[in-house]
Amino acid sequence: MKVFKFGGASVQSIERIQLVADILRSYPNEKILIVISAMGKTTNALEKVAEAFFNNHKEEALQLFEAVKQNHLTTAKYLLVTHYNEALERLSHFFTEVEWLLHDKPVRDFDYYYDQIVCAGELLSTGIVSAYLNEVGIDNSWIDVRDIVRTDNNFRDANIDWTFTQQKVNSEILPLFEDSNLVITQGFIGATDDNESTTLGREGSDYTAAVFANMLDADSQTIWKDVEGVMNADPKAFPDAQFISDLNYTEVIEMAYYGAQVIHPKTIKPLQNKGIPLQVKCFLDKTLPGTIIHNKPVKNLPPIIVVKPQQALIHLHSRDFSFVGEKPVADLYELLAEIRIKPNLMQTGAVSIQVCLDDRPEKIEKLALAASAFFEVEVEKGLTLLTIRHYNEAILQKMIAGHTIELRQQSPETVQVLMLPTR
Ligand code: ASP
Ligand code: MG
Repeated sequence: MKVFKFGGASVQSIERIQLVADILRSYPNEKILIVISAMGKTTNALEKVAEAFFNNHKEEALQLFEAVKQNHLTTAKYLLVTHYNEALERLSHFFTEVEWLLHDKPVRDFDYYYDQIVCAGELLSTGIVSAYLNEVGIDNSWIDVRDIVRTDNNFRDANIDWTFTQQKVNSEILPLFEDSNLVITQGFIGATDDNESTTLGREGSDYTAAVFANMLDADSQTIWKDVEGVMNADPKAFPDAQFISDLNYTEVIEMAYYGAQVIHPKTIKPLQNKGIPLQVKCFLDKTLPGTIIHNKPVKNLPPIIVVKPQQALIHLHSRDFSFVGEKPVADLYELLAEIRIKPNLMQTGAVSIQVCLDDRPEKIEKLALAASAFFEVEVEKGLTLLTIRHYNEAILQKMIAGHTIELRQQSPETVQVLMLPTR
């Protein structure tokens, strides 16, 4: 058994969906669970629908959703002939689910509505891809992952109930493999025990695939992307980024933690726990070897560069010059947990603490306000957090040129610098 994950970019056009078929043809006798994301930028478009709806702009929400709908219908019309009606029936069901909701008035939290609306993206994309594959003779079964992946109701960042989900994998997914070698389902989404849809956090499909790989005891998981494999820096920002042919779980979990956009940070644990190798391969050229991520030590890695823009630095100063002891530090961590925001970097001094966080304005404001009960608070914005693993002085100097450094932390393996362009 293998698990494949196709991201939004790999199903964003007719030609690319045809490439997916081509890839699957080269694994004729494999049992593969296939997790697919929403097409292209659909998730962003659906986020806009959710925002309009929540702000009581019903007409705008309906219009924005209509555009998403038309996009999918156009794609389905191009790809399907014999399976068009069957697919249309399935898609219509998901369109109606959202449209009904859009005719209501928002009375619950934004995050709840976000999940009920945004989940449509993966349901629509998998509906179309599954029908297309069946149409071109690649036999597959489709399943609504919300019947399998049970979560809590922490909308937009839901946590998976492993025991329940494992039981469903055994009782609902395994039997599907008796009918066909390929089972297609959605990443990123799940449902509560009240049948409310949930999402697992942006880019969460990698994680869904890893959960299935773990629960199915897969031989491997493959993430199909539009790049050669994992690079030592974001190739969009650094044209001379280098390809890395193999990596281990630790390295990748560190990269993801520091903000590398390669793989969703939660993906590694389910794989590591069962020693399942993760391949990152290019769907534009399936003959390229890709990157393999495993348990073994890897030596001589190049410097790995991760740049995280839009950082806020919060300076907390004790009001009366009393030391920042365990109590204020504990209070601060409690606040961070309550607001559900993770510090990216933290430094404590005698009478001050500095915390670097992603600049999510509503959260930063909440935190600053709450912290002002214990501290003098100052917030600085527009910073960039640079992390280099396996750094050397030359690469560090090159990366910080033209910047003023606000904070720096280093270990023998990793250097982190919080910086601002010099004015
Ligand atoms: N469609 C979701 C997103 O764009 C999940 C994913 O692609 O992994 O974030
Ligand atoms: Mg994606």
